[in-house]
Amino acid sequence: MTTPTESKETAEASKEPVVHILWINAGLSCDGDSVALTAASQPSIEEIVLGALPGLPKVAVHWPLIDFESGPVQGTDVFIEWFFKADRGELDPFVLVVEGSIPNEGIKAEGYWCGFGNDPETGQPMTTSQWLDRLAPKATAVLAAGTCATYGGIHAMAGNPTGAMGVADYLGWDWRSKAGLPIVNVPGCPIQPDNLSETIVYLLYQVAGQAPMIPLDEALRPTWLFGQTVHEGCDRAGYYEQGQFATEYGSPKCLVKIGCWGPVVKCNVPKRGWMNGIGGCPNVGGICIACTMPGFPDKFMPFMDEPPGARISSAASSAYGGVVRTLRSITLRTADKEPKWRKRGRELLTGYRAPW
Ligand code: SF4
Ligand code: SF4
Repeated sequence: MTTPTESKETAEASKEPVVHILWINAGLSCDGDSVALTAASQPSIEEIVLGALPGLPKVAVHWPLIDFESGPVQGTDVFIEWFFKADRGELDPFVLVVEGSIPNEGIKAEGYWCGFGNDPETGQPMTTSQWLDRLAPKATAVLAAGTCATYGGIHAMAGNPTGAMGVADYLGWDWRSKAGLPIVNVPGCPIQPDNLSETIVYLLYQVAGQAPMIPLDEALRPTWLFGQTVHEGCDRAGYYEQGQFATEYGSPKCLVKIGCWGPVVKCNVPKRGWMNGIGGCPNVGGICIACTMPGFPDKFMPFMDEPPGARISSAASSAYGGVVRTLRSITLRTADKEPKWRKRGRELLTGYRAPW
């Protein structure tokens, strides 16, 4: 956001250490993750930037989405200059956030798939790959934001002309920053807003020496966010267990037969909601299309067909679910009535006996 330019300057002038966040949204991207972050509330990006959380280092966020600096090269407020500063080794520490997938610039003779700013030496556009080559070795941490940046995503689907890939595919899955951090992947298409802001905060605490190594799984996702499946956090799972399945949209029942991939997808959105606990996907009637998964989208299309693996388990739950429902309905009828001693009269019917 920077915060307005002046707050960056104020932070620098006070000589307090400043952690810069350099945000590249010039991958193959729709900026949806940037937009999503503006909806975060636990914490909000404003709280991060204004240092509202105890112990958080001062930060200066260089974020193209809403940065006040947008002037051209050679202008007075040159947004891109922060990236050149980092390249020259004048910004330390900084966290590099990448949004959008990385196209394969090696498959064509001239031109470029994507980039931003011009190389001062050649006057030619700087590709996103060149920025990664230059900045990743100097970054304290690299965060890939969104499924495109993490695993390639929609832009990397079969038939695409760019050969797009995720940041880890480009830099290497074993890549480590100069501080020893792996690439941190926060997938989602777009990212659940608080998943991203929480991860940014974690990294800032870690950079400030106040948090241990961020726990990541084999796909480099924060484990506290992506350790469970959609199904495990879906409030329609009770219907699944009882063998009650929607056959059309608008039903409150489990959506697996109309395309929900929740049982095999790592994501916390139904449990967490989208903004302030409101919204989501299958919990509010939309099939989970597995947008956080490395195999997205190709391995889950066509989205509105029943996932092949769901047939066996849903057939099983249909069979035993009928029996379970019958038994539960008997218990429910009993539990739905008050105990018989709760009534007016001259006689105490609760079973109480005086202890003397
Ligand atoms: S709607 Fe999807 S995630 Fe929810 S219970 Fe059914 S299969 Fe699981
Ligand atoms: S529940 Fe499914 S579709 Fe919704 S955000 Fe998570 S992975 Fe994506």
